[in-house]
Amino acid sequence: MSSAYPRSQSARDEWILSKRSHRNDVDPRKPFASIIEEERSASGEIVPVATVFLTNRECPWHCLYCDLWKNALTETVPVGAIPAQIDFALATPAARTARQIKLYNSGSFFDRHAIPFEDHLAIAERVAAYDSVIVECHPALINKTAAQFRDSTGTSLEVAIGLETVHPRVLPMLNKRMSLELFSRAAAFLKQHEIALRVFILVKPPFLEESEALEWANRSIDFAFDCGASVVSLIPVRPGNGALDALAEGGDFSPPTIATLERALDYGIQQQRGRVFADLWDLEIFSKCPDCFQARESRLRTINRSQKFFDFPSCSGCGQAVSTAGSAT
Ligand code: SF4
Ligand SMILES: [Zn+2]
Repeated sequence: MSSAYPRSQSARDEWILSKRSHRNDVDPRKPFASIIEEERSASGEIVPVATVFLTNRECPWHCLYCDLWKNALTETVPVGAIPAQIDFALATPAARTARQIKLYNSGSFFDRHAIPFEDHLAIAERVAAYDSVIVECHPALINKTAAQFRDSTGTSLEVAIGLETVHPRVLPMLNKRMSLELFSRAAAFLKQHEIALRVFILVKPPFLEESEALEWANRSIDFAFDCGASVVSLIPVRPGNGALDALAEGGDFSPPTIATLERALDYGIQQQRGRVFADLWDLEIFSKCPDCFQARESRLRTINRSQKFFDFPSCSGCGQAVSTAGSAT
């Protein structure tokens, strides 16, 4: 481990914060982004999903790999601002066709300083017509508020939690202040209250070599499904938040190759325990071969939709092929 990264947990916040660059200018009356995308639902249908990236106060945790603070505020938004942001995002004809809605707030939906609890009912009214609503939350904030919110929507609720990795040395170093026990407890609570669980897993977090990354992504997928996940989303770790770039300079971080992401996705789907998606945002940075990048991206997109593995023929540029589940050559 680089000597630059503090060994004591108390010093890590300060170190991570000291590496930050500027925040983006965001408006508390508008979501900082919103998109309509398609995703395979639990029933196997491909459904349009509206994702609203809510502008709100920054998450109180300072995870080593996180860059979500860039589009966050330093103060809690006024009551009424979040429902207004949702109205703004859903005011387009495309948004009205969505069957599911993701309310992603760059932190924890059940953090009252991020999303004022006074707004829960107004938010619930706005999402009630969707087949399901998906929010994200740190496991420390999963409690009866989640069940109350679900009841007030009258529709299905899914909570996305970042497991990140089950690696026993790396997980504590991510500064998330989350143990596997805390994660399991939150997952059990959701299950008990019939709330679905989506799990984010980091593919090649810092402090792991490429040769170890696949095994730990796969073990993390297994753990997520053991805890009752219905969806696992694989996030290849990207630089750019300051802290990861500093670690990269010291040799403690490098992004994964696209092959590691492909293998982890293939492994996850082979388990047939739930849907597994590869996060494809900014995928170019994980590819070293311009000859096959577009075909590989397209293959991953197809697998995300179909949840079916298929071969990738050998590339004339880099010679890589993906020919059987779990093996890219
Ligand atoms: S809990 Fe999530 S939003 Fe908060 S710092 Fe960690 S990764 Fe970022
Ligand atoms: Zn290639």
